[in-house]
Amino acid sequence: MTTTPSPVPTAPAGELGFGQVFTPHMTAMRWTPDGWERPTLRDFEDLALSPATMVFHYGQAIFEGMKAYRHPDGAVRLFRPERNASRLATSARRMAMPELPEADFVEAVSMLVDADREHVPAEPGHSLYLRPFTIATEATLGTRPAREYLFLVIASPSGPYFTAGFDAITVWVSEDHPRAHPGGTGYAKCAGNYAAGMLVQQVAAEHGAEQVVFLDAREGRWLEELGGMNLFLVREVDGRPTLVTPPVSDTLLEGITRSSLITLADDLGLRVEERPVSLEEWRAGAADGTVTEAFACGTAAVVTAIGTVRTQAADFVVGDGRPGLWTTRLRDALLGIQEGTAHDHNGWMRT
Ligand code: PMP
Repeated sequence: MTTTPSPVPTAPAGELGFGQVFTPHMTAMRWTPDGWERPTLRDFEDLALSPATMVFHYGQAIFEGMKAYRHPDGAVRLFRPERNASRLATSARRMAMPELPEADFVEAVSMLVDADREHVPAEPGHSLYLRPFTIATEATLGTRPAREYLFLVIASPSGPYFTAGFDAITVWVSEDHPRAHPGGTGYAKCAGNYAAGMLVQQVAAEHGAEQVVFLDAREGRWLEELGGMNLFLVREVDGRPTLVTPPVSDTLLEGITRSSLITLADDLGLRVEERPVSLEEWRAGAADGTVTEAFACGTAAVVTAIGTVRTQAADFVVGDGRPGLWTTRLRDALLGIQEGTAHDHNGWMRT
């Protein structure tokens, strides 16, 4: 453990921000052709890497995002960490990087949470955001999979992702730049996917939108997901509210929040349709009132209502432009489990 720990952040609730302050430690595991070494706890500090380190040039970099919550009983619990472990392994396979066994992933994450337990904030809407990631650390300019890697876990005590709180956001539809292509890397959580989305994120901000909605690469008409969140619509089908979300494919990152909400929807009596859904269906449904709500979901922001959809041609508004009934119910149900105020009937939380 470090002898010079950074202070526990004292920012009042709402001022902590997201991913801006870090805990005093990190866990590290090295990989060489002999395999993974044991995880070690280290000070959170700068890395010394050769300028020839492969990750800087060819971008073999994958990551995860997950949270630890402080519960009312004082315990600190992780939300479905084994799902992050298996997704990191999926990303590793796609990037020709070594897979970290699930037990080692959970051990490395838990080691850090244990060491920096006092940095897990207790205020509602706050948590310890964890960022496990693997990078190619071999120093050579040869273009081939690296022969050395480093897996690190860092942690950031964080407040709400969107400073507006639970207001509905405006999204910009990317009609020119798809995020992912069939056969590509869309289903992997690799750094390059996010680098490729930065330009569109910038354009969205210029149009006053907080997030980007990406369309499919083949036809440019099917909804895929946001830059860092999955997408759901709420539709009236035969007078019954139904959740509609694009199906998992090789062009979609399968969100752990997405699959948890699909499970919770069932508990709440909401039907779920995982099927292709077009921008036109969204627009027409918002106009005739059959699409009553839309929301985005992911670890960082949990559930965020979408109020206005902005395209090159025109805007349209979903419902009354504010967070809807089912969006709020689903968010409360999931947050209740994550923050420990509701019964965890699915056994998702881990100490
Ligand atoms: N899609 C993308 C592209 C993402 O980066 C994320 C965040 N990991 C998600 C969806 C949501 O995934 P999760 O619910 O597991 O955070």
